[in-house]
Amino acid sequence: TKNNGRNGYNFFQPSMNTLAQSQLQLNNDLWQALDNDELRLFYQPKYCAPRGPIIGFEALLRWQHPTRGLLTPDKFLPMAEKTGMIVNIGNWVINEACRQLHSWHLQGHPHWSVAVNLSALQFEQCNLVETVTTALTQHQIPAELLTLEVTETTAMRDPEESVRILTELTNMGVKASIDDFGTGYSSLLYLKRLPASELKIDRAFVNELQAKSEDATIVSAIVALAQSLDLKVVAEGVETEEQQAFLTGLGCNSLQGYLLGRPLPPDRIGELPEFVGVL
Ligand code: C2E
Ligand code: CA
Ligand code: CA
Ligand code: CA
Repeated sequence: TKNNGRNGYNFFQPSMNTLAQSQLQLNNDLWQALDNDELRLFYQPKYCAPRGPIIGFEALLRWQHPTRGLLTPDKFLPMAEKTGMIVNIGNWVINEACRQLHSWHLQGHPHWSVAVNLSALQFEQCNLVETVTTALTQHQIPAELLTLEVTETTAMRDPEESVRILTELTNMGVKASIDDFGTGYSSLLYLKRLPASELKIDRAFVNELQAKSEDATIVSAIVALAQSLDLKVVAEGVETEEQQAFLTGLGCNSLQGYLLGRPLPPDRIGELPEFVGVL
């Protein structure tokens, strides 16, 4: 038997297949990662279109694994979603993002905002409001500087409930953003009722802008829809000058992508140009 340090004992049977065993190991390691401060937030800049400045960052989770190196979320978040540990991790993310905001304040950037991604489980968890309030209070952060990104799919799972949760959060002053927009199936009726301030166009559409004319049509339609609902539009995954020009021309409010800046650890944020026009 092996003590996993939190849930008591896991029994490794010789008959257990190696996949299940490695999943179990990953699960144990992830609990330890939380305890041992191995989780990191990287920050990707969001620039005001068309030429900057930086308006804020999206916090993206990484795991500095002791033997496997720096892991991206696809390597460990799916399992954390399955076991429910995503809620503990997500709470750590909210607190860490607020801690970072405070430190940017002290460094002379009181207007930078941070967007954190919420998993479906975390979004539906009953003490989300309390977690957010505590983090904001503890680090003395104005609520307006925190954005919560909820995917379209999560928001539409139970639209009535999503309206209720987001209303409670946005009443506190926190901003809400509908992430991965275009990949789910939105009821326009609920989209109109969600108290979000922004839509994020999924990278998949931006990716194919030049290659596929139907994607250009979809992106134009999304921007028009957002504008008619009085939502700001963020385009993610901007990798080329052509995409930047096209999206700016459509009226996207802010841009995010490798062309403008990759996700970086906080100590490397100083390498970013303040204005994209400087590029
Ligand atoms: P997302 O929310 O759609 O985040 C955007 C992803 O696209 C990030 O991948 C980012 O690094 C990547 N990206 C940004 N610009 C570009 C670009 O120009 N080109 C390309 N090819 N990729 C770009 P990452 O960091 O691997 O995160 C993947 C997903 O993991 C995120 O997708 C989000 O759904 C999830 N995630 C990340 N951090 C958290 C977190 O703290 N909590 C939760 N619940 N989910 C998270
Ligand atoms: Ca996101
Ligand atoms: Ca996306
Ligand atoms: Ca996503």
